[in-house]
Amino acid sequence: MSDALQPEQVSLNQRTLGPDVDLRTAVEAAARAGFRGIAPWREHVTAIGAPAAARLIRDAGLRVSGLCRSGFFGDGARPDDGLDAMTEMEGAIDDAATLDAATVVVTGGGVGADGDIAAARARVEDGLAAVAGRARAAGVRIALEPLHPMVAADRGCISTIDFARGLAERLDPAGDIFGVAVDAYHVWWEPDLEAAVARCGDRIQALHICDWRVPTRDLLLDRGLPGDGVAQPRRLRKFAKNASYDGLVEVETFQRELWALGDPDEIARQAMAAALAYG
Ligand code: ZN
Repeated sequence: MSDALQPEQVSLNQRTLGPDVDLRTAVEAAARAGFRGIAPWREHVTAIGAPAAARLIRDAGLRVSGLCRSGFFGDGARPDDGLDAMTEMEGAIDDAATLDAATVVVTGGGVGADGDIAAARARVEDGLAAVAGRARAAGVRIALEPLHPMVAADRGCISTIDFARGLAERLDPAGDIFGVAVDAYHVWWEPDLEAAVARCGDRIQALHICDWRVPTRDLLLDRGLPGDGVAQPRRLRKFAKNASYDGLVEVETFQRELWALGDPDEIARQAMAAALAYG
């Protein structure tokens, strides 16, 4: 088999289509564009209930590459759901079990008003340690996703692949539950990217492809599709594959220009074309 990415290996992150596209619309658009997986966002799962979401996804012939996103134990910006981080994380684990998700993606949350990033990272570790038993009982894996340090203060204080891997190893020496999600947008700049990915070995639970546009006009909502920038998502896929990752490859971008098309089918079609050409 060639090294080229095949449609049956590709998953679509729901938010690529827009923040307000409901799960049914997203699943139908993904299936029509030839995706074999989807990464739903939890608010869209809870909107219809996890059992209905699971049926919807299964009936469309899709698998769940990851449930986005949970574990906001750090602080800072988090979903406006009125839940404390622990309750939210426990619910995400239960939903991931119902969805048979490959993993729950955890970004850790930001630092909080006091600016104590070490304390925030310790809260993330403590929070995850507290849910390990629930995840193990449910047969759910949890992927720690390092985010670019530009968002450490307000979104995610897990900042590098090595930090995420070290955290996963401390929480779970056997590697049954805690692993790492690698996302081209967040890690492309790491000086020893290839070695850092290799050190993860079979702890890589998710691979997100996208691109870093030059210039980047908005640090959150100007993320490119594969091929739009300098992040070289194909290089990251190769590194992950060399580290034994053989799961779905998820296209994940949040981009106002793309969302402005207002057409989930067209966005899904472009995302698949970009993945096959550059992922
Ligand atoms: Zn990601």
